[in-house]
Amino acid sequence: MVTVVTRQGRRIEIIYQSELCDPLNMGEYVRAYCHIHGSDHQRSLSINKKTGWGHCFNAACDATVLVAEWNPPVAERLLRARYQTGAPVPPAYYQPPEKKLPPVYQPVLLHPLKTPPKWQRDELAALLSLSRQMRAALVHSKQARAYLYERGIPLEVALTAGVSYLPSAMLNMPELQEKGGILRRWADRIIFPLTSPAGKGYIGRSLCHWQPGMDENTHKSLLDQPKRPRRWITNPAGWFGYDIDHLSGCLILVEGAFDRLTLLSAGFPAAGVIALVGTATQADWYPHQVKAVILALDADDGGKEATSRLACRLTQTGICVRLCPPLQDKWGKDWNERWHRIGPQSVWPIYEAYAELWGA
Ligand SMILES: [Zn+2]
Repeated sequence: MVTVVTRQGRRIEIIYQSELCDPLNMGEYVRAYCHIHGSDHQRSLSINKKTGWGHCFNAACDATVLVAEWNPPVAERLLRARYQTGAPVPPAYYQPPEKKLPPVYQPVLLHPLKTPPKWQRDELAALLSLSRQMRAALVHSKQARAYLYERGIPLEVALTAGVSYLPSAMLNMPELQEKGGILRRWADRIIFPLTSPAGKGYIGRSLCHWQPGMDENTHKSLLDQPKRPRRWITNPAGWFGYDIDHLSGCLILVEGAFDRLTLLSAGFPAAGVIALVGTATQADWYPHQVKAVILALDADDGGKEATSRLACRLTQTGICVRLCPPLQDKWGKDWNERWHRIGPQSVWPIYEAYAELWGA
């Protein structure tokens, strides 16, 4: 293991495959016990096999790692930069003296660490299998299109972001009988794709009892009544817009899925806007290229608390942070509400923060 500190002050541990402690192959990611802080009861180290980048989920450790063999060009560049600053650099053939462990691609490692309950796996598999039909349903559903329209979101923006719709009529089709039973709670929902280090997931917003012309807050109070469907459901939790291999160097974090669609409608790049959608925010999920983050969470108490917690953690990891909550006036507490009430001027504060960071 070699520690490198970048010019931005970020600390990266360059590690070798043989150092990974009892790694488990979990699809796109490998999980291992963290030898950096010496964890032996949890595989807190999560590494993307394609990019070689990984993080330790242990809050006290919080290490960012790069597995040298999985991303030789970047590992070499980092080691060279370190050498230029005068610190000693190990030769390319250097192998640390730790005990030899089996390489991570061995089939024996191909079993998941913690399997979610069967109903959850079945539900996710059913959603994934219907993704194409659900996207087509968004185009064809009058109800879903009217809903997006009233939220101020163009259909193309939603489709490009992977948004879809599951009409209950689809679940009643004879050929989907089995899936229909599994997906009942997802009926009549606008569905957003989610991503996390564990893989893909979905979050769905119920349109039950919504009618064109109905105000968002009226709909919310209708759904909050007993025996009504929950406004939002997820399986499993994740972020909307998190694509670890294509994240921009400057990220805007918002709370809701519709807030993200709002910013995309306003012209912000898809690779630069992430919706947290209620996930416990983990600073460990930010890949190395992220240098700056604009925190644009809601202006309510929950949003403020999450903002200060995140600002603190991100700053500690060397990321430049700007706070940009929605203005506290009569036009609404989140970006989407403000967008469909006052239009483009609602997102000017984010443009300003963004321009300031790029200029910096
Ligand atoms: Zn660790």
